[in-house]
Amino acid sequence: MAVPKRKKSKRRTRQGRAHHALNAVNLADCPKCGEKIMPHTACVNCGHYGDKKVIDVETKLDKKLKKKENKENETKEK
Ligand SMILES: [Zn+2]
Repeated sequence: MAVPKRKKSKRRTRQGRAHHALNAVNLADCPKCGEKIMPHTACVNCGHYGDKKVIDVETKLDKKLKKKENKENETKEK
């Protein structure tokens, strides 16, 4: 098995780790509701992409609630 020939100094380790920092995500404002959104994606809050409504948020929310209810009922039955 290959093994490093020398110990990596503190300096070398730290110099490498100097590049590990994460960058903040670049968020845009939704033109409809002002919510922070990922650029080039539909808004999760109001379902608009630009001026067009592309997601029916209310039906989606209903589905989500129903799913949650079903799950709770299942856990109660057991
Ligand atoms: Zn929005």
